[in-house]
Amino acid sequence: MRYPLLSALLALACAQAHGAANVDAKRITAAGSDPANWLTTGRTYHEERFSPLTAINDKTVAKLGLAWYHDFGSTIGLEATPLVADGVMYTSGVWNILHAIDAKTGKSLWSYDPQVPRHWMRYMCCGPANRGPALWRGKVFEGTIDGRLIAVDAATGKLVWSVQTTDTSKPYSITGAPRVVNGKVIIGNGGAEFGVRGYVTAYDAETGKQVWRFWIVPGNPAHGFEDKTVEMAAKTWRGEWWTYGAGGNAWDAFAHDPALNLLYIATGNGAPWSRDLRSPGGGDNLFLSSIVAVRPDTGEYVWHYQEVPGENWDYTAVQQMTLADLQIDGKQRKVLLHAPKNGFFYVIDRTNGKLISANNFVPVNWASHIDLKTGRPVELKPANSYDDKQASLVYPAHFGAHNWPPMSYSPNTGLVYIPAQETSWPYTHAKEMPPWRMNWNTAFATNAKPATEPAPPLKGYLTAWDPVKQKEAWRVDHASVWNGGTLATAGNLVFQGAADGRFVAYGADSGRKLWEMPIQTGAMAGPISYSVDGEQYVAVAAGWSGSIAIIGGMAPTHRATSRILAFKLGGTTALPPVPPMPPLAPPPQTASKEVIARGAQLYGATCRLCHGLNVESGGMTPDLRYMSAETHKAFKDIVLYGARAKDGMAPFADMFSEQDADAIHAYIIDRAHAARTGASQ
Ligand code: CA
Repeated sequence: MRYPLLSALLALACAQAHGAANVDAKRITAAGSDPANWLTTGRTYHEERFSPLTAINDKTVAKLGLAWYHDFGSTIGLEATPLVADGVMYTSGVWNILHAIDAKTGKSLWSYDPQVPRHWMRYMCCGPANRGPALWRGKVFEGTIDGRLIAVDAATGKLVWSVQTTDTSKPYSITGAPRVVNGKVIIGNGGAEFGVRGYVTAYDAETGKQVWRFWIVPGNPAHGFEDKTVEMAAKTWRGEWWTYGAGGNAWDAFAHDPALNLLYIATGNGAPWSRDLRSPGGGDNLFLSSIVAVRPDTGEYVWHYQEVPGENWDYTAVQQMTLADLQIDGKQRKVLLHAPKNGFFYVIDRTNGKLISANNFVPVNWASHIDLKTGRPVELKPANSYDDKQASLVYPAHFGAHNWPPMSYSPNTGLVYIPAQETSWPYTHAKEMPPWRMNWNTAFATNAKPATEPAPPLKGYLTAWDPVKQKEAWRVDHASVWNGGTLATAGNLVFQGAADGRFVAYGADSGRKLWEMPIQTGAMAGPISYSVDGEQYVAVAAGWSGSIAIIGGMAPTHRATSRILAFKLGGTTALPPVPPMPPLAPPPQTASKEVIARGAQLYGATCRLCHGLNVESGGMTPDLRYMSAETHKAFKDIVLYGARAKDGMAPFADMFSEQDADAIHAYIIDRAHAARTGASQ
């Protein structure tokens, strides 16, 4: 397009002619007959992430090329599923900045910056992520990392209303995408490991007024229960769980069945992770690690299915839920499909919450199977016989067999496409909580003896799972463990970003690789497909992100700016070159071995959450081994007193002394020298 401004104005005029973000229940419910648009995060209320478009298909995909890209000017990772309504793409970029983009050209129509406090990143496990907005009747809705829900005019990008959905004196955060059901904006929150109590709230889409709140875990009984459901849940807890917050936060998935008028909430892990510490004497700890069905108009409880009673391993069940109608044993069943962190694939009757079948889609050793009579896992020893003295290797790890990168479901093949991973962790649980508050606190026992068995290698693959047979139909092995969300299309294709910086299309029926393109970074978010003026596009938010990327540490190969990539048949746009790494020039080491070791311990407990294991950043935060001379000089000002708070580096003077900062600095210098000489941990 020779006249980008004119094109942007035309797209805006076109959107206004339709009414910008002219989205309502009727339109989302009829999404099957509206293949051009992607109006809600999973495309439909059933969250299939399936596009009925067929122009890009297994015969034509070889001609797929980049149509446009839209840069966000930062390496901070992206997890958003963009939405497209009538030729306009709405998405969140970095730091919760909302963008309206011409979906045909990639040109900006407007952006809105909610000015999130960058230091809030300190209260988040895995970076300032956001999984995208929601649309409803001319407004764009987004949850912000500091716990606000904002509504922005879809035509102009001006703020309409904003509500604080959380207590800002507590380390709550929001990373999930809202859903709008029956005129109510549904939003959850995160922060379990930081010691908060999870809940879901519904707000009136027009006014921002609170309509209902569903508490996932009970609070202090002495303060009275909010409702009968909380009272019921409290009977499954012991001890003084409320002093730890207890968790259960619904930080990602929701699904909605308009015919049954049910809203499904997927809930998170317990806080702290150790059930003995959280609820001494046992109990199922409702509604941790569960799927809960509520009435979307009132938040009234209808049924629940708890996947991990007395959750003990950070086994969140917040991962994407997909609603499907399947033929099982000769009967048509309305089911909910779920592949949570714990490694089992669940098929649940979504009318009543009864388990139909479950099978593990990766190797697991925490449970032998799920008992279909009781619906409960049969836990295994010795995998679970760990404590504060002895670690035990459990798989999957807290990174999960499947995490937030979404799966997709094709009604054509009947298969579910899961970004699966094999992970393990030497679990230990302390007998007492450390005194840290407002900080990540898993209550690991750091002095426990290591696990006796060696950790199996990390593996990542795309698995096509048959939910009726409960077995794998095909698999594509990946080079690395942490890979992107998937999109299935009626063109017999599955799209997925890989950790090694490729975007790939596979045959949906066969798993055969049909097309790939290097995209300079890991695309972890769920891809989408849409069409404008009759031409089909596939788009993805590309920007390396997520817990393994940020905490686990990865080679710093992903240095490209985070951006939206849109592909079409015959696209010929090229990406600009990737900026080079800065020089690796650490100052000489002057600290003693003891000081370096102490620094390693402090780094591992705190800094690692953003800068990566062994000071190996995945690229979305600065790789500290490559600090400049100027940064080395200002180190204490940055770490203790907030000299770079505006960039997201919070001050830590409340936790660390100047001596602590010096020790951390010494450890980083040690790692930089190791990188320079090629020595690894
Ligand atoms: Ca967690």
